Amino acid sequence: MLNNRMMFEDLCMRNESLADHSSYQIGGKANFFAMPETVEELLTLLQGCRTHGLDYFICGMGSNLLFPDNPREDTLYISLKKFVYWDISPSKWFISSGTPMSMLAITGLMFGISGYEFTYLLPGGLGAGIYMNAKYNQHQISDIIKTVYYVDLSDPSLAVQSLDVSQCKYGYKQSIFQMNPWLVLGADMLAVPDEKQIAPGNELLARWKAKKGMSGLASFYTYMDGEATQLMKQGLAIPQEMTDIAAYRNGKCHFTYPSCGSVFKNNYDYGVPVGALVDRLNMKGLEYGGAMISPHHGNMIINHNHATAEDIKYLMNKIIDGINTAFGFEPEPEVVIVK
Ligand SMILES: Cc1cc2nc3c(=O)[nH]c(=O)nc-3n(C[C@H](O)[C@H](O)[C@H](O)COP(=O)(O)OP(=O)(O)OC[C@H]3O[C@@H](n4cnc5c(N)ncnc54)[C@H](O)[C@@H]3O)c2cc1C
Repeated sequence: MLNNRMMFEDLCMRNESLADHSSYQIGGKANFFAMPETVEELLTLLQGCRTHGLDYFICGMGSNLLFPDNPREDTLYISLKKFVYWDISPSKWFISSGTPMSMLAITGLMFGISGYEFTYLLPGGLGAGIYMNAKYNQHQISDIIKTVYYVDLSDPSLAVQSLDVSQCKYGYKQSIFQMNPWLVLGADMLAVPDEKQIAPGNELLARWKAKKGMSGLASFYTYMDGEATQLMKQGLAIPQEMTDIAAYRNGKCHFTYPSCGSVFKNNYDYGVPVGALVDRLNMKGLEYGGAMISPHHGNMIINHNHATAEDIKYLMNKIIDGINTAFGFEPEPEVVIVK
């Protein structure tokens, strides 16, 4: 127990700025913060929270959440950004939660596996992608995984469990992981690369893990673009889908300002995207404090100038009220508001 306790304290950072761990660059200082790299470290932290009576919040790259301006004193914020490793064996390819989704497009290119192109420049780790069922156009994370490994946080033993993708209740930005206190550790992918890909794959992961500022959108873009350019120089052709994605995301200024991407889920019953409705209401460019509804995309609220979480929430409420009054429904937030 003493060992565990020391380990827990060794793994905890104090007074860490949550803004540095969110693509919004918003969030006050966390009393307790940790970035486990292995399952053992992660489980030690979760057990330690029980021992010390702390609450916890799990995040990935922080690209779909809004941290509080004043974090709770009794909460350990656990980021999985460094929880990055693979296991390639003859019959399976396990990828851990902290691995950036965009890395799948890069490795698809390296390993000659198609179907991962849609993840190119999609911010966030695979774990949250599995939790949110992250998507781009018609493609979603649930299309490319086979088995998900997770820990039921309400189970005292914290034993690792698994589910076949068919049992994960996947829908539009929905999964069974949002309905239960489960922490996703990673997944076996549908495709299995050749074992000789282990070495170049590990080099790729090591380069990412050594990168500073893993949550910054501009540096995320530069990094992924750099990896793709290197592969191009080695003679690999960049698929048109990846080129189109880069053009679309750059055109919408996805990496220019801190943001969380789309703030609201689209309402498919209504049939018009939230961004287009905000456009109809002439709300693009509306500012409050340091926050602004993106002039380039009505469903994005950007951190324009040292915005606080309260500034972002104010504009979210403006959009909800505006859409409700004009179109008769309240859009559902996609961004996770962290208490
Ligand atoms: C510029 C920009 C563009 C974007 N474009 C898209 C897009 O095209 N499509 C799309 O789907 N999304 C998009 N997003 C949103 C974001 O990329 C995804 O939601 C992504 O899945 C979030 O990953 P993350 O690691 O940053 O998760 P976080 O933001 O850190 O966490 C999000 C949620 O997942 C939970 N979570 C994180 N990891 C785990 C885990 N291992 N187990 C259980 N729960 C977990 C957290 O508790 C939280 O509730 C965009 C975001 C930005 C900033």
